[in-house]
Amino acid sequence: MKAKQKLREAIDSLYSRGCASSEAYTRLVLECVRHNDFNQAKRLQSHMDLHLYQPNNTFLHNRLLQLYSKSGRLSDAQNLFEKMSQRDIFSYNAMLSVYSRLGSVQDLWAFFDGVPCRDSVSYNTVIAGLASKGCSSKALEVFIRMQQEGFQPTEYTHVSALNACSRTLDLKRGKQIHGRIVSCNLDGNVFVWNALIDMYVKCGVIDQARWLFNRMVNKNVVSWNSMISGYLINGQPEKCIGLFHEMRLSGLKPDAITVSNVLGAFFQRGYIDEAHETFSEIKEKDKVCWTTMIVGYTQNGKEEDALMLFSEMLLENVRPDNFTISTVVNSCARLASLYHGQVVHGKAVHLGVDFDLLVSSALIDMYSKCGEIKDAWVVFKMMPTKNVVSWNSMIIGYAQNGKDLDALALYEEMLQEKLKPDNITFVGVLSACVHAGLSERGREYFNSISKFHEMTPTLDHYACMINLLGRSGYMDKAVDLINGMPHEANSLIWSTLLSVCSTNGDVKHGEMAARRLFKLDPLNAGPYIMLSNMYAACGRWKDVASMRSLMKDRKVKKFAAYSWIEIDGKIYNFVSGDRTHPESEKIYQELNRLIRKLQESGFSPDTNLVLHDVGEDEKFESICYHSEKLALAFGLIRKPQGEAPLRIIKNIRVCGDCHVFMKFVSKLIGRPVILRDSSRFHHFVGGQCSCKDLW
Ligand code: ZN
Ligand code: ZN
Repeated sequence: MKAKQKLREAIDSLYSRGCASSEAYTRLVLECVRHNDFNQAKRLQSHMDLHLYQPNNTFLHNRLLQLYSKSGRLSDAQNLFEKMSQRDIFSYNAMLSVYSRLGSVQDLWAFFDGVPCRDSVSYNTVIAGLASKGCSSKALEVFIRMQQEGFQPTEYTHVSALNACSRTLDLKRGKQIHGRIVSCNLDGNVFVWNALIDMYVKCGVIDQARWLFNRMVNKNVVSWNSMISGYLINGQPEKCIGLFHEMRLSGLKPDAITVSNVLGAFFQRGYIDEAHETFSEIKEKDKVCWTTMIVGYTQNGKEEDALMLFSEMLLENVRPDNFTISTVVNSCARLASLYHGQVVHGKAVHLGVDFDLLVSSALIDMYSKCGEIKDAWVVFKMMPTKNVVSWNSMIIGYAQNGKDLDALALYEEMLQEKLKPDNITFVGVLSACVHAGLSERGREYFNSISKFHEMTPTLDHYACMINLLGRSGYMDKAVDLINGMPHEANSLIWSTLLSVCSTNGDVKHGEMAARRLFKLDPLNAGPYIMLSNMYAACGRWKDVASMRSLMKDRKVKKFAAYSWIEIDGKIYNFVSGDRTHPESEKIYQELNRLIRKLQESGFSPDTNLVLHDVGEDEKFESICYHSEKLALAFGLIRKPQGEAPLRIIKNIRVCGDCHVFMKFVSKLIGRPVILRDSSRFHHFVGGQCSCKDLW
């Protein structure tokens, strides 16, 4: 810091005097290069220009060119090069490196063509530049020309040429270069050898890569990493893990790249504990390691672990980037944890990545999934630039939160901004139409997908249309639509039809849909229970019983329905009839108190919805203590006062009885209740629900 300040002061004092001596300029230019200080170098050059100072050799200017290149200043380098009264091969090479790093392919090529004198450095620079810009065939063309003009390629040239082949998966040329390497006796060089392995790995010839790997004497970390990542990208996670163990046995220390690859392999196989073990053993973890582990947790449904790890990462003073932050925000969204979401949002502001496209879209999604649609809107509004993902997040956020007309208005605005909607946009638009019951408009949007936007409707879009038609009472049209689809119907289509049938009490079509689902996914309990409930609702107890024995025969297990509520940043889980919570007694007291209150105002539990044809008392018991009711009672014990909404998440769809219950409670306590179930949001305010009783 001090040295940099001294440098600035020295240049300041230069400005208060006149032209300096050659020695003074040389000393200061070298200081600027040493400290990588572009700003002072620029001032120094201005001073020289001002005093019309021309150095008597190219040395000073060449050093400045190199510094400008390093600092990413293309136009400053170009200007200086133009001004130089004399140029030598070093000046041309410095400028070639500027164009390789910062210019377009055309610029680089044009400059290279006009270079009056070349040496092997010029060729190496341009080959590496072209390879890094993905122009592998041009790079290889220069590689051949270089030899024709009598220059001997070095190990560096061969590596650049191999990188060009890796980038464009040009195995044929890669093999030719391999042949040359052998004939030049360069195959003992670990640098070249690693590039060869990398080329074979990228081109998918993993066995050839392994053969080279096995023959290597002085393998370094890069060699192991190339091979380990090779197995990962070629879909062989077991071999990747195996090689990692071999590497450790060899006594070589894995680096952050090794660990990220191996974690990726563990996660592909689902070995989460092993991944964490490996992760913990690494002393110096970088950002990529931490982020890989966090992503792995999120992808495997361990959001709470992901959040914990993120706070550990901050404690270790590792600076997260936009990708890390957006991953963590996604975890908060899945947990509907507003508390943690807000904390991470604060962190994003602190790091200056809150306006990043990835982060902003994740934040919009998080606030929407927590039912805080106004906050989602604020993030959306503040974004300086938006892409289709940002618009999609906001449209879907509105649709999920019952703001269907706002979702559609936003879509129209998006079209006016000349943005091209994608498949996800239409899922948002069509589901808004479904929730708002706008069948005509929905049909128009659906038709517009192929007519005006040149896309083919996906199964998700068809599912929305089936929902829309079914809810408007056009069951036959919904079935016709399924039969006329260009795609084979999947379980999403049939389960959509089944749930529409269950809302309409249409047993005939419901049975058809359920039968398809039994075939597609025989162990999923959902369709059995739904059909059973439909039979129960019209008193067909015999069919209910046969459904139950069918489940027994096929060993279908009911999945555990559960709910959770977040209080002061902590997540509390509940299952139906749960008595494991330490405050169980209090919770049940509170719940029974609420039920009594509600019964006084005319509410009676809807025991028709209970699957088993058991005694009324038992039915009452099994429906009154559904997990979301327990979560609500617990929330009221912990937060009896205040106006903040109670926020509950349920892993499957809310039942009709709980829905009625929540409406009553929101009126009784005069506070909003926000319930997110597997299909949508329910904002209960003053006895009404935002879903208008359709879900
Ligand atoms: Zn329920
Ligand atoms: Zn609702």
